[in-house]
Parts: sequence; structure tokens; C-alpha cells
Amino acid sequence: MFVYLDNSSTTKQSREVTETVARTAEETFGNPSSLHRLGVEAEKALKASRKEIASTIGAHPDEIYFTSGGTESDNTAVLGIAEALKREGSRVITQETEHPAVMECFDELERRGMDVVRIPVKSDGIIDMEAFEKALDEDTILVSVMHANNETGAVQPIKEIGRLVKKQGKALFHCDAVQSFGKLPIEVKAMNIDTLAVSGHKIHGPRGTGFIFVRKGINVRPLVRGGGQERGFRSGTENLPGIAGLACAASSAERSMDSNLEHVRGLALRLISGLKENIPDVEINGPEKDGDPGSDKWLPYIVSVSLKDTRGEVLLHMLEQKDIYVSTGSACSSHKKGFSHVLEAMGVSDNLAEGALRFSLSYDNTEEEIDYTVKALAEAAKEHRKMMALARRMGR
Ligand code: PLP
Repeated sequence: MFVYLDNSSTTKQSREVTETVARTAEETFGNPSSLHRLGVEAEKALKASRKEIASTIGAHPDEIYFTSGGTESDNTAVLGIAEALKREGSRVITQETEHPAVMECFDELERRGMDVVRIPVKSDGIIDMEAFEKALDEDTILVSVMHANNETGAVQPIKEIGRLVKKQGKALFHCDAVQSFGKLPIEVKAMNIDTLAVSGHKIHGPRGTGFIFVRKGINVRPLVRGGGQERGFRSGTENLPGIAGLACAASSAERSMDSNLEHVRGLALRLISGLKENIPDVEINGPEKDGDPGSDKWLPYIVSVSLKDTRGEVLLHMLEQKDIYVSTGSACSSHKKGFSHVLEAMGVSDNLAEGALRFSLSYDNTEEEIDYTVKALAEAAKEHRKMMALARRMGR
């Protein structure tokens, strides 16, 4: 049985998206900037995609700018806001479990002399709101907090953070929604989000596609300059086939959001109970650990577990032998031991961080696949732990 449980890394492009991309590439190949009929047709298609996407987050089409994906959208927001507002204050705030696409931008802002504050998370991966409120002072110009974490599925209290940022009055609020878009409802106005980053390939859309929402009237310096496409905010000839594919993926995710979430939650709970029942010394990393699995603090598309006294990488390859594809607790090169900075921020011990595996689900996974995976991992863990114990006895 082939089992793909690495959907947070990337998803399989859906048939519907592939057909849309191919059709657009073949039939609407004009450059939207061209003045002739083919250009006008391409411009029309671009406009339709922008409208379709805007409606999924309660935005106006003029607030959507197409990019090459999550990384570019995050970079544009963090660096572009900091640059635009640098004369109004020097404090910029983020939290410890952001994706490198955000974290590295804050490292850069620190090198440029800004006052960077990285708020810690609690053991469930949720931001320490008391520390956040204390840090959000009058000098703050930017707050960047992700919606759902890509390693644990921890969902941050975005609405509350947005409310506090709005109350402060000066800072802008960026949210990385790469893992949550199309899976959890997002209403940019109600959540007081100023900029939002989204990626196409996490929702069965094409690689190298994405968008950034930029609330009308705010000041963000463009990152990519040139021919003035995207109303001067993001230059470069538009990837129209990709954009049409992204719009198709976004509306499809929006249409099936509730039923997909229910299906995936059932699978995630089956996976967790299966692992707990069949494998000794297994720990869940994330808000679903001991709390309510129906809680709004957890995106059930992502299940992070740690198997004591194992190496996640070895288990990953043992599962691969059985045609099951997962991730480790994604290694971060900046970490001294190569373990995940997310698990470290949550206070997970080195032993458990080393034995971390991430299962990330999709609407097309099945109960049979989950049961097959539990059985395969139980066998792999038993065998691997035996080898580890033997190696320890031999002093290696
Ligand atoms: N932000 C988060 C939370 C992610 O999980 C990812 C990708 O893994 C990114 C940003 C980067 O997105 P992209 O691969 O589209 O550049």
C-alpha cells in the first residue's frame, strides 16, 4: 500500500488543478500587460483568479498580490513593513516557532539594528500571551505570528493577537497562513490581519505559486521591482497558468473545508490512539497532547509524535521501505544538534526531539492507510529500539 503522509511538506497537485493549469497555458498564453486581444484575455483571467481568491478570506481583489509562494510572501511582509515603518519605531515582535521564511527575516532585521523580540511558547506550542502583551509597546511597528505551525499543528490565537495589535494602534500584523489556508476559516478583517502569506503547493495547487494579502491603505515596501506588474507591488510577468491553478485549488479547498476537516480529524485521532495503544513510550507533541482533540488550538492535519530512545530519521527510512512517506520533526540547520527549533521551544527533551516524526494528512488519506501506518511503525520501532539497545550495550 502506498501511503503519503507528508502533506505539510507538499501536496499532490489535484487533477482539477492540473487540467486548469494546462488549459490556461494552452489557451490563455498572452501576456496580461500586452495591449492586444490576447493580452486583454489574459488580464481578464488574472482578474477572475484574483477575485476568486479574495473571496476565500473576505478581502477585496485589490488587496491580493500574486507571488512565487509562502517564502516570498513572508519576506515581502516582514522586510517590507519594517522598511516602510522604520522611522516610526524600532521594535519588531515574532514568536519562537515561526517557519524559517519568517525567522530568517527577523534575524536580518536584528542585523540591521532593530529591536527584535521573540516571544516564547508554552509546552503545547501556543504563544505566551502574557509575554506578548508585555512586549507590545509603543515603539512596536510589526508583529508576525503564524496561524498553524508546520511541525505540530499548534494554532495560535490570531484573533486575539490582531485585536491587541489594533488596540496598540501603530504596529502592523503579519500572519503566515501557509499551513492553515484552505483548512481553517480565515477572515482577514475580523482577525485584524494586515498582511497574510499563502502558498499554493500546500493545498494541492501548483509549486511556486502563492499570494500575499495586503490590507488597503497600509504601507509595505515592495521587495521585487521591475516592470510594475501587480500594480507596482510585485514586478515580473505573471505566472498565469500557476495563478489559475492556485485559484482553482483555493476555491476547491474552501468548498470542502468543513467536510475535509471532519474527515482528517477522524483520521488524526485514529492515528494518535493507534500509536498510543501499539507503541510504548510515545509522546504527542502539540496542543492535542492531553487536551480536547476538538479544541481550536490544534490543526488535525498535522500530528507530531516522539518515540523515546529512537532516531526519527531511521524510522522514516524504515517506513519508506513499506512505501509510507512521513517527515522527521523537521531538522533546522541553525540548531546546534540538528533538532527541530519548534520542539526545542516547546521544551521537548533532546531524546524525544531526536525520535520525532511528523505525519501530515490530506483529504484523500483513508482509515486503511492509517491502520497500515500504525502497524508498520509499531514493528519498525520495536526493531529499531532493539538495535539501539544492542549498540548501547556494545558501547557505541
Ligand atoms: N511558512 C510555513 C508555515 C511553511 O510551512 C512553509 C513551507 O513549508 C513556508 C512558509 C514556505 O512556503 P513555500 O514553500 O511556498 O515557499
